[in-house]
Amino acid sequence: MNIAILGATGSIGTQTLDVIRSCLPQARVNVLTGYGNISALAASVHEFKPELVWVPDGAAADELLEYQVECEILTGEEGLITCATYDPIDIVVNALVGKVGLGPTLAAIEAKKDIALANKESLVTAGSMIMPLARELGVRVVPIDSEHSAILQCMQGNTASAVEKVILTASGGPFRLHPKKQIQMATAADALRHPNWAMGPKITIDSATLMNKGLELIEAMWLFDQPMSNVEILVHPQSIIHSMVQFCDGSVMAQMGLPDMRLPILYALAGATRVASDYPRMDFLSAKALTFEAPDEDRFPCLALAKYAATIGGTLPAVMNAVNEWAVGQFLQDKIDFYGISALIAEAFGSYTVQDVKSLADIRKAEAWAMEFVHARK
Ligand code: NAD
Ligand code: MG
Repeated sequence: MNIAILGATGSIGTQTLDVIRSCLPQARVNVLTGYGNISALAASVHEFKPELVWVPDGAAADELLEYQVECEILTGEEGLITCATYDPIDIVVNALVGKVGLGPTLAAIEAKKDIALANKESLVTAGSMIMPLARELGVRVVPIDSEHSAILQCMQGNTASAVEKVILTASGGPFRLHPKKQIQMATAADALRHPNWAMGPKITIDSATLMNKGLELIEAMWLFDQPMSNVEILVHPQSIIHSMVQFCDGSVMAQMGLPDMRLPILYALAGATRVASDYPRMDFLSAKALTFEAPDEDRFPCLALAKYAATIGGTLPAVMNAVNEWAVGQFLQDKIDFYGISALIAEAFGSYTVQDVKSLADIRKAEAWAMEFVHARK
């Protein structure tokens, strides 16, 4: 199996390398990409010896060369597409963060590469293009997101028509029990302290606002071909049940495990099959109780905004995603407050005229509108 890892220096990227190192010795890593942290990228290049390596620009390429790497170095947007479509590759791990992930996802599918997809933003913005294209070309899009991996695992041996509803679990994030007044004052440092998962900064903030669950709702609708009314969101603070599927006979399947992203990564790389690992096991006797709560859309308005975007569809999810990505960046730099993120998205919704999604250009236009909108507001 030949693998390309896009976003190899990030949280999912480095855990993917760990999975390959410890569980998939026969796999070959042919392609690695990294945006920053060139020294970490260089160490992975020395260890995995890929033929192609991508960095954003010439300066980063020069920095990489200082580490005496032996590989072809690509740069720029085109270079990322070359990485996603490189002929020897069987499977592309898309662990890029944000809207930059969509181009490579579409290009990889067009080149008939199976995808292990962590970049949920691809499906949020262009699920209506990705899923039909993947079906038409016989490409597998296997989610890395733990909830969606759980749903896929629960679906094994069942037909899609037997699904009554999908139950997407959410940890609730670091502010689950905080009153609105306290959340209002939250800093980026507070929001970055996630109770159960260590992840990249963008998704950690999305988890604190519950936008992550909103993005995952849209991701689940596309991946499993379900209307929004069939996807329930349930806060489960222990993050042991990663999601559930309820079937037409009333039976519910749940997928459980320790909160360890290496498990869904391994499942995706193995093409939704089981490969042995020696990762830590669940100990049910010492596990705390498994509890459930309804999400609170008043304290976490991003969830309601994502539901609205999912209902309207078209280019609205792309606008939401782009405004959110920008606003999260601002929040991380302490330039706006916590509820500034949802306020900006709500304001964007009020001024945007939704279009149909027929091509990548439609998404790009919507994202360009979003960037103009946020910059005009500054
Ligand atoms: P991260 O920030 O840790 O890593 C992102 C990677 O993308 C890095 O390799 C970075 O160098 C690269 N990158 C960033 N900006 C780029 C750009 N403009 N061009 C090219 N490359 C760029 O993020 P992460 O937490 O690993 O998340 C990656 C994706 O996986 C996100 O879509 C996230 O929602 C999803 N995801 C992450 C987790 C998790 O546990 N981290 C869980 C589920 C889903
Ligand atoms: Mg998730």
